[in-house]
Amino acid sequence: MTLRPLDQSSKLKGVLYEIRGQALVEADRLESEGHTILKLNTGNPATFGFEAPFQIVRDMIEAIPHAHGYSDSRGIMSARRAVVSRYEEVPGFPLFDPDDVYLGNGVSELITMTMQALLDEGDEVLIPAPDYPLWTAMTSLADGTPVHYLCDSVNGWQPDLDDIRAKITPRTKAIVVINPNNPTGAVYTREALEGIVEIAREHSLLLLSDEIYDRILYDDAVHIPLATLAPDLLCLTFNGLSKTYRVAGYRSGWLVITGPKKHAAGFLEGIQLLASTRLCPNVPAQHAVQAALSGVQSIDALIAPAGRLHEQRDAAWEALEAIPGVTCHRPEGALYAFPQFDPEVYDIRDDAKLVYDFLVAEHVLIVQGTGFNWPTPDHVRIVTLPEARVLTEAIERLGNFLASYRQ
Ligand code: PLP
Repeated sequence: MTLRPLDQSSKLKGVLYEIRGQALVEADRLESEGHTILKLNTGNPATFGFEAPFQIVRDMIEAIPHAHGYSDSRGIMSARRAVVSRYEEVPGFPLFDPDDVYLGNGVSELITMTMQALLDEGDEVLIPAPDYPLWTAMTSLADGTPVHYLCDSVNGWQPDLDDIRAKITPRTKAIVVINPNNPTGAVYTREALEGIVEIAREHSLLLLSDEIYDRILYDDAVHIPLATLAPDLLCLTFNGLSKTYRVAGYRSGWLVITGPKKHAAGFLEGIQLLASTRLCPNVPAQHAVQAALSGVQSIDALIAPAGRLHEQRDAAWEALEAIPGVTCHRPEGALYAFPQFDPEVYDIRDDAKLVYDFLVAEHVLIVQGTGFNWPTPDHVRIVTLPEARVLTEAIERLGNFLASYRQ
């Protein structure tokens, strides 16, 4: 019998996820040969010694004997109620009820469902550049067209409102905002967010706001939830336990729907349909939500000036700025630094090759900026989760390695 060759579907053509791309395959291969690789590619707190908060673990363990059945497709009521209470404490957040909440196997699943429910072939979605690349990938998978609007590195990576306006067409359906931002660490100003909301109002766009880092803020940064500025618009806010509660492996996130819904009944039925077809999110992890949102597991001590995450952000930023020809916006939030290599100093034509060669030479895995849909090969993303001395040393090694690219 001859077996017919099987290729991947053509739908996957625009689906890229370089955070776990070819360089990771090589990193795993090197590890299998016995090398120690410092993996700075994923924002996974558990791999750098951040433990799951005790109360979350305890509540999940207690729930497991009763968590073996499917739940409601939206998620268990106690968790959805906990999400409602969380936002009741956020000044100005539009009111919503538990039926406006969907729990998911991480925010990732909810992004996928949203794009599948929303888009027809050729529908356009405005997505930041650089972005967290799942947004672009899932827009493509849903047959939509990702249209990237620039964030401005010389203006603290704030969204460029003129660029957004210039890229709106009759096919634009939604605008994605990632705030605090992955990969840049920017926290958006009120002015920028109000500008985006105004554009969405003018063009009747759906707002999709990824706020998974909303509690990971440094210094005096203030996070403004997009929905608070847009009670008159349909806004989907995405968040979850992976980062703030350091339990990325539990796969637990939520989506909150606020604003007017009548005009979007079809789309929202689509979300409900897709929620039903996945049956429900993992039920034990849903039991982690209420424990987490009760507040006792706060991340505040880690982001305070003497806290570990704050120190690591400082260490990464200082080490990057110390490399000649490298500049980096000091992250105001999230878990990443996104430095630029001055093109007048370094001749880098292929940032994926740079990342690969750096891995092979120095056994440190980072991710190329083009993997975040940044248009030019002059940035990389570095995860700021390892301890400060590890970060400093890894970045010094990057500096030494870069010397071979000097013009
Ligand atoms: N959104 C952003 C901006 C992220 O950085 C990540 C993960 O790194 C996700 C969503 C996915 O998170 P989850 O673990 O909830 O699927």
